[in-house]
Amino acid sequence: MRLELPALPENAALVRVAVGCLAAQLEFTLAEIEEIRVAASEAFSNAVLHAYPGSPPGDRSVTVEARLENGLLEVSVADRGVGIADLEQARRPSYTTLPDRMGLGFVFMETFMDEVTVRTSVGSGTRVVLRKRPAGRGPAETPDEVPSEGSGG
Ligand code: ATP
Ligand code: MG
Repeated sequence: MRLELPALPENAALVRVAVGCLAAQLEFTLAEIEEIRVAASEAFSNAVLHAYPGSPPGDRSVTVEARLENGLLEVSVADRGVGIADLEQARRPSYTTLPDRMGLGFVFMETFMDEVTVRTSVGSGTRVVLRKRPAGRGPAETPDEVPSEGSGG
């Protein structure tokens, strides 16, 4: 899936729904799907809030891509904005560059996903990749609902 969305806060709702629907194709619990929805929308909201200071709202865009591969969900959120100069500092709990924010977006992403990878370059932009596998599943697919022969009707 690939969505290119104007950088507007209201589009976070669309990201939540689209990513949540895709995630539902894997055996995530409803709680896990809610976590994925929150993590994806935090990544998108970060691009909206921080990537394009000074640009008119919605002038620039954010690209959200999501795929299912070998039982794994991967969500990528990319902007072509200002980038993050000190990524280690930015990922720290409660660190924010905006006075009215909590600095908890990265904390939510890390808490709710198995893996959070950030690639950023000052002046070129930021890409956040979120990965999650349904809990209770090993690295390989385990067929746990193989219909037995002759059963049913
Ligand atoms: P909250 O998520 O609680 O509303 P926040 O967005 O400031 O607050 P984080 O999501 O943890 O907190 O992000 C921390 C900081 O990292 C931001 O304040 C901002 O400086 C920087 N940052 C995050 N994403 C981006 C981005 N896509 N482009 C530029 N800077 C970013
Ligand atoms: Mg944030």
